[in-house]
Amino acid sequence: MTVVVPDEVATKATCRPIISAVTIAATCPECGGPRGEATRHSRTVDGVLYSVDQWTNECGHVDYYSAVLAEARAEAS
Ligand SMILES: [Zn+2]
Repeated sequence: MTVVVPDEVATKATCRPIISAVTIAATCPECGGPRGEATRHSRTVDGVLYSVDQWTNECGHVDYYSAVLAEARAEAS
């Protein structure tokens, strides 16, 4: 699945919100269950409005954006 997530490392480095569209598995890395469907949400950081995806996994495991970015980078390499 492709999701749009905030890249907090890049955001800190540049002092403005950096958003990345990344491709990750459709399954939870903890238990292999299906990830929830992503929906678009607006977030405001330092007065700048931008949109990111959020989803809730049925299994209850939480996908942190930092882990999602790490997974996407691992898959791309
Ligand atoms: Zn899980």
